[in-house]
Amino acid sequence: MSFVLAAFAASDANSRGRRYPETAPAYRSEYQRDRDRIVHCGAFRRLEYKTQVFVNHEGDLFRTRLTHSIEVAQIGRSIARTLNLNEDLTEAIALAHDLGHTPFGHSGQDALNACMQNHGGFEHNLQSLRAVDILEERYAEFPGLNLTFETREGILKHCSLKNAAELGEVGRRFIEKTQPNLEAQVANLADEVAYNNHDVDDGLRSGFISVEQLRDVRLFGTQYAEVMRRHPDIPERVRIHEIVRRMINYLVVDLVDNSRRLLAEAGAESIEDVRHAGRPLIGFSDPVRAESLELKRFLREQLYNHYRVRRMTRKAEVVVSDLFGVFMDDPRMLPPQYLDKLRAAQDDKAARARVVADYIAGMTDRYAIREHKRLHDPSELT
Ligand code: MG
Repeated sequence: MSFVLAAFAASDANSRGRRYPETAPAYRSEYQRDRDRIVHCGAFRRLEYKTQVFVNHEGDLFRTRLTHSIEVAQIGRSIARTLNLNEDLTEAIALAHDLGHTPFGHSGQDALNACMQNHGGFEHNLQSLRAVDILEERYAEFPGLNLTFETREGILKHCSLKNAAELGEVGRRFIEKTQPNLEAQVANLADEVAYNNHDVDDGLRSGFISVEQLRDVRLFGTQYAEVMRRHPDIPERVRIHEIVRRMINYLVVDLVDNSRRLLAEAGAESIEDVRHAGRPLIGFSDPVRAESLELKRFLREQLYNHYRVRRMTRKAEVVVSDLFGVFMDDPRMLPPQYLDKLRAAQDDKAARARVVADYIAGMTDRYAIREHKRLHDPSELT
């Protein structure tokens, strides 16, 4: 089967290029090169020890941000290929989308944002972009990974207007209210499909939520009935997997069909048409969007607010805010590689706070816990 890139897909030919111009790669596309740089960077490796909902040391069976990102890439690539979009770009965005996440998932990020309130705040999408633009120090000829505009545009899923104004070209769409490339839109929704479904799977495995509860949620209930009808006697674990895989397929098929409709209606013929379409052209149909939201609501109420998850959340907040407080009180306790950055910040308190936030955001769950212990427990070696 030959593969033809749609006219509205991103391509090497219509790319806005890199911030620091480079010669074209010999055997790869520009977006393959982006993907490869992401896979080889330090922040990507650390995703293995960062969590989504459960803390990394709670069990080896739960998703980490690394396995989550790989699932997002898998789902995103399937959708991109089916819609004749650029699979390599979708993959690059998917693999990089969570690079800026703090330890302990959303609770860590909320805690760090609270600490940074008077110093410009903390946004995880912006931090992912910071990671690939600035924080990764690996190449002789440019800072960061020097990714293409389209990958950077995709990584920056959300952004406050204030920060958008400071970012220049890549932030402009938030001010002008234009859309990102389609591959970014695909990666964004693949993220949603991935976490809704794996949180059901991990939530059931943890015992924090039950099949009985989930049967009342339409998305799950429909597939549950189907699996029970076809395979009434399979073991519970297999049943859950059968249901989850069908949910993913149901969402992806709807997304592809509905996006085809949206693209045809808009008559987009180029990547610029996509950017100026006035609305996203990748999306679920209204009924399926409602079902997806119902599942999200269920997970928020029953899983993310489960008392044991909340206890973990609280501990995460304490660890992150304690670390922030300690390093702001005496930044000289930061590891030596941060001292140059501190010196550059001089008396600018916001700039100093940003150095501390970058250090904390880069930590894995267990590193943050260990660092907290080292700084607070006098019997620990420093
Ligand atoms: Mg994600």
